[in-house]
Amino acid sequence: MANPSLLILPGDGIGQEVMEQVKRVISWFGDKRGLAFDVSEDLVGGAAYDAHGTPLHDDTMAKALEVDAVLLGAVGGPKYDDLDFSVKPERGLLRLRKEMDLFSNLRPAQCFDALADFSSLKKDIVAGLDIMIVRELTSGVYFGEPRGIFEEGNERVGINTQRYTESEIARAARSAFELAMRRNKKLCSMEKANVMESGILWRDVVNEIAAEYPEVELSHMYADNGAMQLVRAPKQFDVIVTDNLFGDILSDCAAMLTGSLGMLPSASLGAPMANGRPKAMYEPVHGSAPDIAGQGKANPIACILSFAMALRYSFDKGDEAARLEAAIEKVLADGARTADLMGEEGGTPISTSEMGDVILAALDASL
Ligand code: NAD
Repeated sequence: MANPSLLILPGDGIGQEVMEQVKRVISWFGDKRGLAFDVSEDLVGGAAYDAHGTPLHDDTMAKALEVDAVLLGAVGGPKYDDLDFSVKPERGLLRLRKEMDLFSNLRPAQCFDALADFSSLKKDIVAGLDIMIVRELTSGVYFGEPRGIFEEGNERVGINTQRYTESEIARAARSAFELAMRRNKKLCSMEKANVMESGILWRDVVNEIAAEYPEVELSHMYADNGAMQLVRAPKQFDVIVTDNLFGDILSDCAAMLTGSLGMLPSASLGAPMANGRPKAMYEPVHGSAPDIAGQGKANPIACILSFAMALRYSFDKGDEAARLEAAIEKVLADGARTADLMGEEGGTPISTSEMGDVILAALDASL
């Protein structure tokens, strides 16, 4: 059988630096665990614009639609700030999400014990935290029509439309239930059914899909209360599913419970392909960090954890994903810190590649 295929798109700035470490990890799994991938690499964002005058070449888009999973670094940078909107680096990312129809965005918020002091919340509230937010990514108020700024009488009016079809809600809900089945079988759906019709429909459809997953304990919460509960007692949640707008806000809020942007992975999943695997793109939450790019300071863990998500959600290798996560947990417990993870106690930070070195050593030790 052919090896599973991966398309690597490092992008710009620290995207390229952190992806170098991910490539070493991918090779390790090939060499030491017999998990070989057919890896190809291409350009996205500013790097693609420099080479082709577009942030995503059509050939790259075609490749992304063919492979089993896409792994992306980050895009953007000050050099591209003045470009026309249509060719800005972020357009490359948005085109990938749109044409791959990645409707389900998975954002874990996991607090490694060694970093519990980093959270803005008290240590006992976040230590051991492991929750997952599923955000609907391709519909809702960011896409609904009508939208725009119009003249009305003698003033302007800004309009955006929250719009969800039943099938859009159903597929996001199903992906969240599937995830809950792989975890602790607890799902909380968040909307504003008290003041929004789209929220009433959201709740109805989630309840309908729940009948397919009798083992999952489903609850509903208004999204504003959800935000409060996330900072009050985040460990009450396992999987949260919510729409595009609330998910944008709640996932950033949950992410910050865990400390550094350099630690946060994400996955965006679409419909199953012919081989049963979902269309998928994995990427760290952070951007291209122009302030530290090219200095060997970037933390590669978010991008490496994104590859762990690929192992789990695209390749059904949850045990190998757990091995990688445990290796990261170990190096952090042993005190390895890139500059973004330096606490008040001080110490000497290690570089991006040194973090790669210690993670590979911990993987070796896991054998
Ligand atoms: P950013 O995430 O790039 O950086 C925010 C801060 O966090 C910076 O101080 C940075 O040094 C730090 N940081 C981020 N990732 C880090 C890591 N792995 N290790 C250590 N420190 C890290 O956000 P920004 O500064 O608002 O945006 C910079 C550029 O990235 C912009 O062009 C923006 O449009 C783009 N961006 C891209 C994505 C993406 O590709 N998905 C996401 C966000 C921003």
